[in-house]
Amino acid sequence: MYILNILIWWFYALSFSLAAPNLPKQEDSNSADVVSVSSLTPIPSSPSTSSIAVSSSTTASIPTALRNTTSSAVLEKRYISYLGIKTTPGVAWPRHPPSNRVYIRYCYATQEVRNEVKCLFDQARDLWGEALGGKASEESGHAIMPTEAKDESMRPLLCYEDAAGTVWNRYMPADALVISLVPDEIGDRATIGYYGTSQKGKHTLSISQSRMRKQQVHVIAHEFGHVLGMGHEHQRKDRDEHMLFQCDQLRGFWDAYNKASVVDIHLKGPAIRERLCTDPEYAARYGFKRISSYTKIEDSQSTGFVFDWDSIMLYDSTAGAAGKCFELETWCPLLKKVINPATGAAQYVRFQGGRKPSVRDAAFIKQTYPYMPPVAGPNAPVSDQPPVPSVTSAPEPIIEAPMDLTD
Ligand SMILES: [Zn+2]
Repeated sequence: MYILNILIWWFYALSFSLAAPNLPKQEDSNSADVVSVSSLTPIPSSPSTSSIAVSSSTTASIPTALRNTTSSAVLEKRYISYLGIKTTPGVAWPRHPPSNRVYIRYCYATQEVRNEVKCLFDQARDLWGEALGGKASEESGHAIMPTEAKDESMRPLLCYEDAAGTVWNRYMPADALVISLVPDEIGDRATIGYYGTSQKGKHTLSISQSRMRKQQVHVIAHEFGHVLGMGHEHQRKDRDEHMLFQCDQLRGFWDAYNKASVVDIHLKGPAIRERLCTDPEYAARYGFKRISSYTKIEDSQSTGFVFDWDSIMLYDSTAGAAGKCFELETWCPLLKKVINPATGAAQYVRFQGGRKPSVRDAAFIKQTYPYMPPVAGPNAPVSDQPPVPSVTSAPEPIIEAPMDLTD
């Protein structure tokens, strides 16, 4: 069955290239989802009165497929949601009736990016497909449909019309996820959750050049986890019960410390250290942006849930290390706390984050985006392409993509 599910996922991925019905374009996101990006009509830029539906699935009941996994899985599964909280105000991606699927429509920034990145991104998408037990269905228990944007001839649509990636494609809905290649100094990063349709190119997944060279699929899968709304496991507010975080072992800490010591002469050393390690805004003033991927997210929902050492959203001990963490544990920014059963003393050891989405990562997706049968009935056809969303009337606040360095 597992193999079958993978095959189904593959078939589903390939089926993106099948033609969708050529029906009139729908302006209302609550109406039929049988329209491709297509229709060769530019996406309207003027605001309409309707707004995109925002999924309320985060409060939905646990789907049957999830309840049937392991004993007490509902309480023990990973659930660290960064959706709709103060720090990362993105929400869950919208569900589209009547199919009730959650489409993640993506595009590559330019043809050059598509040529370079598509193979690796497809592999990352398939890692998620395997972890989720195949495509969106009652059996798999989830509703996610990652879908490359296509025109009405089912040719891939690029996010931007020009090779430089500056002119937004007039046929591309504003909420498409933009996949791009970025220099190493910018680093791998992605937006967390969904931010509506008011601004073109707001949803981003950026892959660094070195990641491409190393063909690190798990990093792309990690970034896609952010897109779906997942935060870092090591940023849970209860992480100190499970691990040791050594802020001063991160690259950039001591440079920032020295700069801050000159400017903030009224602060003592320990106070500067404390602020650099807990206040991303303060740290950014001195170029220590890396800390934003490590500070505890106090309003995340994580207390009481098992710490998921297999999660793809967990960094390695060596990530961002200034020194030789791979040789000596005292040089590691993150270490796993292990209790010696003989002495009861805590020991700290290196660890490696997940290389594929874990069972609990998949459980998060199934809880956040549970399968729901099509409104027209369980056997109703489901379009390969999501409906064209309407444009929201009110501008939304600009959200910066969180810095995400996972080297
Ligand atoms: Zn990350």
